[in-house]
Amino acid sequence: MAHVESAHLLELALGNAAPGDDDAEALRHVEHCDLCRDELGMLIRLVTAARAAKAVDLPIPPPEHIWLRITREVSRGRGTPPPQGRPRPDAAPGS
Ligand SMILES: [Zn+2]
Repeated sequence: MAHVESAHLLELALGNAAPGDDDAEALRHVEHCDLCRDELGMLIRLVTAARAAKAVDLPIPPPEHIWLRITREVSRGRGTPPPQGRPRPDAAPGS
């Protein structure tokens, strides 16, 4: 199986994954693939940090160069384009 797509890893990290063959297969792959496991771990940390953050912690969106670095890390080695747009503090969950 090919590497799990970043978008799918993000769904898993967000806990949005619905039980099903796709996710079971993806999780099996992640178990045996250092690259995908590292990426999933990084996404989980990112999601955890984002959920823990309050709007007051992030009065402005991250600087462009920081955001570009994050998106580059996320899409590293996959040949997939980085996600578009930056997180907005007023779109933070739990605010
Ligand atoms: Zn992989």
